[in-house]
Amino acid sequence: MNKVTSIVHEKEGVIKYQLDFAVAEPVDAQRLKALQQWRLTLYQLGLIGQDPERYGGLGYGNISQRCFSDDAHDLPENAWADIYDAAVALAESQNPDDRSGFLISGTQTGHLSELTAEHYALVNHCDPLNNHIIASGPVKPSSEALTHGAIYALSPDIQAVIHVHSPEIFALRNQLLLPSTPDHVPYGTPDMANAVRSLWSEGKLKSAPVLVMGGHQDGVISFGRNMTEAGMAMLNVFQWARALRLAEEAEAGHVERVTAF
Ligand SMILES: [Zn+2]
Repeated sequence: MNKVTSIVHEKEGVIKYQLDFAVAEPVDAQRLKALQQWRLTLYQLGLIGQDPERYGGLGYGNISQRCFSDDAHDLPENAWADIYDAAVALAESQNPDDRSGFLISGTQTGHLSELTAEHYALVNHCDPLNNHIIASGPVKPSSEALTHGAIYALSPDIQAVIHVHSPEIFALRNQLLLPSTPDHVPYGTPDMANAVRSLWSEGKLKSAPVLVMGGHQDGVISFGRNMTEAGMAMLNVFQWARALRLAEEAEAGHVERVTAF
């Protein structure tokens, strides 16, 4: 296996974990259908992408799904609080690592409007507490694969994870009552994995499967039992953030009111 050891470096898009990577064929495109649909939606909203004005011009945002996700749940049928309780119970009865493999968008793919199977890596093993990933595919996994792994490690019920960058959600995180990892914890580190686990075990992720990464500029994560659940959770928060911002701007007199005659 071709071993790549990276240097610890706090910069968007830079791989910080120890990666054992083997070049391999892409997975069957059929398995990427839900991932691809949501990745496109998030790209169109600017939540995943690349912007010369932001983060030193590096790509941002990434998306993943467990290898054996069955997509049995199309839309959230229950309140998230009930789902959370079931996910906690399942985590206590099963080892989440038993199903730890996941497919994730590749590193530095943010600038592409549409991805193909060539742009996804398979993470075969992820150990967030020891900063170690074993992966294969046509491309190396996202620099934030370790954070995705930390979310999957919470419960086998978690089947999909989305990480975006949203200045709106990040700035309004207190008004939106979003749980946040501490500001001094950088992304993709064992400390981040521990911080996420604390939020989970303290019940702070019970009201919605969304959290802000305090130490990662504009970083937001959502997750769910499938891509739809994770995606809808993110879109809901994004919509609230935009509505709040518009309301704030209107109050400050920054929005021109149209006067009807
Ligand atoms: Zn990020």
